[in-house]
Amino acid sequence: MMPEEQATVVATYSRRMRLRLQDGREVSARIKGKRLKPVCGDRVRAEPIDGERDWLITAVEERRSLLTRPNTRGDPEALAANIEHLTVVAAPKPVPDWFVVDRYLSAAESIGIPAAVVYNKIDLAEPDGVVQKNLDEYRRIGYDVIALSARTGSGVAELARALIGKTGIIVGQSGVGKSSLINKMAPGAQQKTAELSPKVAAGRHTTVNSVLLSLPGGGAIIDSPGVRDYAPALEDPAEVARGYREIAAAALDCRFHNCRHHHEPNCAVKAAVSAGTISRRRYASYLRLLKLTESLDQLR
Ligand code: GDP
Ligand code: ZN
Repeated sequence: MMPEEQATVVATYSRRMRLRLQDGREVSARIKGKRLKPVCGDRVRAEPIDGERDWLITAVEERRSLLTRPNTRGDPEALAANIEHLTVVAAPKPVPDWFVVDRYLSAAESIGIPAAVVYNKIDLAEPDGVVQKNLDEYRRIGYDVIALSARTGSGVAELARALIGKTGIIVGQSGVGKSSLINKMAPGAQQKTAELSPKVAAGRHTTVNSVLLSLPGGGAIIDSPGVRDYAPALEDPAEVARGYREIAAAALDCRFHNCRHHHEPNCAVKAAVSAGTISRRRYASYLRLLKLTESLDQLR
């Protein structure tokens, strides 16, 4: 019998997987047992099956991060593993919803991964006053901010550079250009998705759950409808401040360690907002997410 090998899950179709072996070869695979639940991005152990083309996944290695989303029953469902970077995309069209951008960034904070804000479609319109102000704010608090055009390619290399050696995801409102950007950075991405499907699904027509697309410069993007529309799960209200990094930093000086930075006295966050070191827009966005999380928390 051939020894087990380490492999990476590069595509999933419910319980069918496509693996990349260490020598770069890609094979299709089944999963041993019901308890094992590998997802795209997982490092697994696998072995060939005698007389079959399929391999068998026998174990999932420890994950460094896991992206989950509540399924229709409200249970957390794994979307992708070992994500190391999040890119949130906004554009002049559709009109940017900065609250959505903030929520994605707060998801990145809670997973504990770096994030970049991309402003796409600069061939349509360069960032205007308000947009520029918001982008400058993100840059000031430490996020990579990249203005680019997936259509012309201008600025795309800068994003590709930020992703070198990392496995990332690309999120944002529908229509901002996520698919266009993925296709620009990972040539053949669309085709790869289409090609993989029939082979692995053995004649049946199943849609791809998710794929890991290698970038020419090194690094990869995990893509799937579920990941693209990833709605960060709302955490405990006490956790909301952690998703706003400049608020979390200022909160160290609040009088109460459980300060929610709303009506409490001696609040260092409110002081920083008054002094102008924390932006009013981001503070209002924080209060909005806090309120939303509190109202959902009361339903539980
Ligand atoms: P997604 O829903 O975020 O995946 O967005 P798509 O990639 O499907 O793009 C939505 C629309 O925006 C499509 O009509 C694209 O052709 C268009 N689009 C994407 N990127 C650009 C860009 O950089 N410039 C312009 N002018 N249009 C773009
Ligand atoms: Zn406070």
